[in-house]
Amino acid sequence: MQALSAPYQCKACHVSISSEEFLIHWEPKYVFSVVSNAKIEADNNVSCSGCGKYLGHKEGLQWHLEPSSLNLKSVAKAEVNLFSLKQQDMADISMKITRLLENTKIEVKQNLLLKSQLRGFQYSSETDLVLLHHRSEGRLLLTDRNGFYNDFLASVYRFMEGRVLVLITNIEESPPEGALVSSEIYELSKFGDQPTIGILGEMGKVVCWKSSPSEYQLNHIRESIMRSAFYREPANYARLPEAYHPSASNKFKCSLL
Ligand SMILES: [Zn+2]
Repeated sequence: MQALSAPYQCKACHVSISSEEFLIHWEPKYVFSVVSNAKIEADNNVSCSGCGKYLGHKEGLQWHLEPSSLNLKSVAKAEVNLFSLKQQDMADISMKITRLLENTKIEVKQNLLLKSQLRGFQYSSETDLVLLHHRSEGRLLLTDRNGFYNDFLASVYRFMEGRVLVLITNIEESPPEGALVSSEIYELSKFGDQPTIGILGEMGKVVCWKSSPSEYQLNHIRESIMRSAFYREPANYARLPEAYHPSASNKFKCSLL
């Protein structure tokens, strides 16, 4: 397996700007040949698409960025926060995930959830990716008005800027090879009054299987961890309910006072 190239991230919002392989010079500015998630403004000034902070400027084909605006992240370790109501399933998933990345140690923190904690859940722990596991037993009530996880997912989505993946196990039928979710999820979304799980599914943030994940699904989980830890994109809030947007957090705090 090819060695990972360490990413340079925006110091303010941790969005991925470039990586070690594209660094040409490093004094007095960092000069890169390739940059992502950056906008060219007036006078060739360059700003971060994630948070709008000034990063440097563009000269011809090269990007001259301020060393003080960037952070080089080590690819030695990624951290995943896993939540589930089921201890045994969580241990099993944790073991599968720990094996996913060669050359990088993935630390999986297991968090046992209680049903009583889910309403009004406030997430506040910095990590690379949050995984929420649910074992399907009977009717699936996941998101929106009657969903068990709506407060949990909204809070995690806001705090983690979209770095969340929902894993659903024990569903009736695994999706066909090359798919992340089964039609069951889109039926919930269309006919079950749970549009949000469908939107998250279309965004690639839901993976479900009957007894074990396919190679394709494991690969997607691996990619999600990689992107969240090392090659972060700016968050996408379009189409999601207001409670999932970062601006909602102030409103929610106020309503508690
Ligand atoms: Zn930024």
